[in-house]
Amino acid sequence: MSSTPKNKDSEPKFLDNTLRPSKWDEYIGQRGVKNNLRILLDAAGGRKQPPEHLLFYGPPGLGKTTLAHLIAQETRSQMKVTSGPAIEKIGDLASLLTNLSPGDILFIDEIHRLSKVIEEVLYPAMENGSLDIIIGKGPSARTIQLELPPFTLIAATTRIALLSSPLRSRFSGGVFRLEFYSEEEIQQILKRSAGLLKTNINADALAEIAQRSRYTPRTANYLLKRCRDFGQVNKKRELTKEIVEEALSLLEIDARGLTSSDRKILESIIMKFNGGPVGVNTLSAATSEESATIEEVYEPYLLQIGMLERTPRGRMATKAAYEHLGLPPPQDPQERLL
Ligand code: ADP
Repeated sequence: MSSTPKNKDSEPKFLDNTLRPSKWDEYIGQRGVKNNLRILLDAAGGRKQPPEHLLFYGPPGLGKTTLAHLIAQETRSQMKVTSGPAIEKIGDLASLLTNLSPGDILFIDEIHRLSKVIEEVLYPAMENGSLDIIIGKGPSARTIQLELPPFTLIAATTRIALLSSPLRSRFSGGVFRLEFYSEEEIQQILKRSAGLLKTNINADALAEIAQRSRYTPRTANYLLKRCRDFGQVNKKRELTKEIVEEALSLLEIDARGLTSSDRKILESIIMKFNGGPVGVNTLSAATSEESATIEEVYEPYLLQIGMLERTPRGRMATKAAYEHLGLPPPQDPQERLL
């Protein structure tokens, strides 16, 4: 299995809690997902049953963990939080499951990193609420079955393609894709965050941060905090567009929100591979970025803004990428350009 990147180290996850929405209505955007979840939660509540198992997927920082916390709050359930890589042995999963109380939520982040053996223990737990454990080895081995209390599994992944289809099909409550946010939604999120951080920021400055936020709440909040620091150190009473521009150019975040790593990826495709197509592993070697990081963190946004195209033969830079980097497009457009 391919390795999963650490959290983008420029945006540490531990800072998230202060700005994380704590009420259902504070969770902005993702209307389709929220509407479906509302029905599912209300219906389950009406039957006095825990909601069925749910899977959220999409690029990092779009609000998967936040949604899980909000569901726990809405259903007044306790939530135990773990992650795929933390469940190393069958015993780890067994102890998590047997320690659940009726109606609890178990949240497994990065579920694509569970091993196949552990996945297989999870299936009957998800389906019939039973845990089959094999005790002993060889001819004397025997299986014991434990009844589990009714619970809801909520899982999150940035790599839905790595999930086996038997696992995917066991999320009976639904598999939900989180989308990038609109600029207006990001502005709303930033407004709330600025209030919580007691940061004075004008509308143009908010719009500027939103434009460079990769349409991602975690990135937007991170940029806001860095602009706040810059303003504070430079003794500014209010963050303006000019201050934000200065602060973000220090961080090497350009007008479209591309970081130096995004630019390095696009430049590599263009300069070293003549615009592509190039396979992700080759690109990883050329840029010294892990291929999983390219696929999970950088690529989704570059695809979203149309600077990168994924083809069966590999990744290609688009005309928009050449233009953004100020590079002349290749001579024979038919041959190379999309
Ligand atoms: P993920 O689990 O998808 O990586 P998180 O749920 O940890 O993302 O979200 C990262 C941060 O972004 C949260 O702490 C919160 O501050 C902010 N955030 C995410 N989604 C929303 C939203 N819909 N509305 C407001 N803030 C959000």
